Amino acid sequence: MSQHFLLSPRAKTLSLAQVFRMSDAEAEDIFCKVRWSETEGKPVCPHCGGLEPYECRRPNGSLRFRCKACREDFTVTSGTLFAFHKLPLKGYLAAIAIFCNEVKGKSMLAMSRDLGVSYKCAFVLCHKLREAMAEEMKGRTLGGEGKVAEIDGGYFGGYVKPANNKENRADRRLARNQNGKRKAVVIIRERNGRSLPAVFRTEGQALSFIRSRIAKGTIVNADEGSSWDALHAQYEMKRINHQEAYSMDGACTNWAEEFFSRMRRAEQGHHHHIAGPYLLRYAQEASWREDHRRISNGEQVHMISGLAMKRGPSVDFCGYWQRSTSV
Ligand SMILES: [Zn+2]
Repeated sequence: MSQHFLLSPRAKTLSLAQVFRMSDAEAEDIFCKVRWSETEGKPVCPHCGGLEPYECRRPNGSLRFRCKACREDFTVTSGTLFAFHKLPLKGYLAAIAIFCNEVKGKSMLAMSRDLGVSYKCAFVLCHKLREAMAEEMKGRTLGGEGKVAEIDGGYFGGYVKPANNKENRADRRLARNQNGKRKAVVIIRERNGRSLPAVFRTEGQALSFIRSRIAKGTIVNADEGSSWDALHAQYEMKRINHQEAYSMDGACTNWAEEFFSRMRRAEQGHHHHIAGPYLLRYAQEASWREDHRRISNGEQVHMISGLAMKRGPSVDFCGYWQRSTSV
């Protein structure tokens, strides 16, 4: 049997020990190279595009540039997902490395202990990394002529605790006994390709999303759920009845199930009851991890930093705690 990818040396190109051995200047250099890859790390003014900024560090020693042309100040993270950051850049690199190494997801409480930061800080940081991962999926379409994709749905959130005494327990399968927080995560996954998740109230509401994101000519695999019947008009469908088999005549949804397996493990092992507005972010994280599971951790860190630097300030979290505490 071949060796598991994560056991091979190819999987391990960046260790946390390496990050901690780096000097602050080396960490800054990595971020500069990721941000300004076209100029090989030489800063470009985000205000006027000027190519001659000079280093003008803050009194506390943190890296800052001043533009010769427009006199504006900026840092390597200005206008990116890490704008207004509080930790030293090395801390962010360590955070991304820890986040990548936990292939089933990282508990934010554990992250706060690892980095010596508050839970809030770790929470916001991890969610920004998820936003960065989601950046890659924007506008993604999957499949195409002769390609095979799988779709599947899974329900998350809305856990209702059963009452202590048996006689007080309600039937939690009935809609009236649920709390309305239960949502369906629907995944589209191209075999040997990329994946794309989305969140809906029910599987059935995902149809127009599926039609817009799976290209014509794709062979679509789905389970026996009646929500998918309407897709037969657009696509050549292969259905698999899981009551009978997990795979039959080439029809299966095992690629999609792998995504749900990763997401369930993240839910049960790290995040517990994931629901509400962040459900999509957790789904995007699991999807990104599935898509990149066979690349080295060093490359993953590089990709996530690149996505974070490409992305503007956080939509979910820019000034999040200030906003919620200033009311
Ligand atoms: Zn400028």
